[in-house]
Amino acid sequence: QYHDVWVIAEQRYGEIKPVTFELLGTARRLASARGGQVWCVMLGHNITRYADDCFHRQADVVLAVDDPELTHFVDDTYANIIVDLINKYRPEIVLCGATSRGRALLPRVAVQVNAGLTADCTGLEIEPETGNLLQTRPAFGGNIMATIKCMNHRPQMATVRPRVMSEPELDKNRTGKLISEPLPESMVSRRLHILQTFKDDEDTTSIADAHFIVAGGRGVQGPRGFDVLKEFAHLVGGAVGASRAAVDAGWIEYAHQVGQTGQTVQPRVYIACGVSGQIQHLVGMQSAQTIIAINRDANAPIMKIPDYAIVGDLFDVLPAMADELKRL
Ligand code: FAD
Repeated sequence: QYHDVWVIAEQRYGEIKPVTFELLGTARRLASARGGQVWCVMLGHNITRYADDCFHRQADVVLAVDDPELTHFVDDTYANIIVDLINKYRPEIVLCGATSRGRALLPRVAVQVNAGLTADCTGLEIEPETGNLLQTRPAFGGNIMATIKCMNHRPQMATVRPRVMSEPELDKNRTGKLISEPLPESMVSRRLHILQTFKDDEDTTSIADAHFIVAGGRGVQGPRGFDVLKEFAHLVGGAVGASRAAVDAGWIEYAHQVGQTGQTVQPRVYIACGVSGQIQHLVGMQSAQTIIAINRDANAPIMKIPDYAIVGDLFDVLPAMADELKRL
């Protein structure tokens, strides 16, 4: 009754987010093991123009609901539509990015279709004997890896953090089938009215996709301290990250938080400034290619893991590094 692997696409500001493509690559592997197809589900306005981008990255079918009502993401409305599509087409597996949107959307869907949901997976495989989806994710603060199965309900649903899976190779010769579904008025939630939207300063916000992150902790000492980090991030074309202590203090928005209850990031370079390096922070950044830590305390836990540990005051070290870079 249930077949195929679905990826719920995420698009913002006229661009498909890379996590969608990463999941399409994973979906191909899972669908091959199950003898099914890869479907990409796209909701939004003027989104069918992105169908080729998904076909070129392993989607066999793009299932689109394209309507002006869907211009802005509203979790109730989006969930109603996806539930309806699941009931109609019966996918075996549904995947979505563990982004703020994915985390708002997929639990709503899972409850309505009476399925389980494994959040924040880092590994997905098919169990050869049963065909069940093996969903692996860190548990207990990243100290153990748990593998979770959903044996009695379908679809099997999981969210995956951005940058955990690799994007498939772009194949411009691939094509697929586009299915367009109408949006019934009954699906649109009128509970929420969007009065105004504004684009965040993505240069310094989007840590999930950034190749260079300069992150601040309690050592940054206040919101004005983050200006120094923002300046540095602009200089290197990177994004600003933060520890939970800095976010909880209200110095910077949650979208910047790295770690267990923030985002997992995998940049080429991660500079931790005034971050002590507690396990809940480390689980979110320890797979960065190069880690640089700046801390006044040579014995802070973060100073044990980096490629370069600089003992000093971040307000001296970071501007000095910026001056050197400007000279290059
Ligand atoms: P602190 O531990 O206070 O460290 C500040 C550091 O700055 C110190 O090492 C100090 O030497 C240094 N410093 C001070 N001034 C300067 C200066 N001028 N120059 C250089 N260095 C300086 N934390 C996260 O980050 N992300 C999470 O997602 C997260 N999730 C959590 C989930 C749970 C369930 C729990 C219980 C905790 C979680 N935490 C998380 C909190 C975590 O345990 C730590 O409390 C937090 O990471 C500490 O933040 P910090 O390193 O900025 O602050």
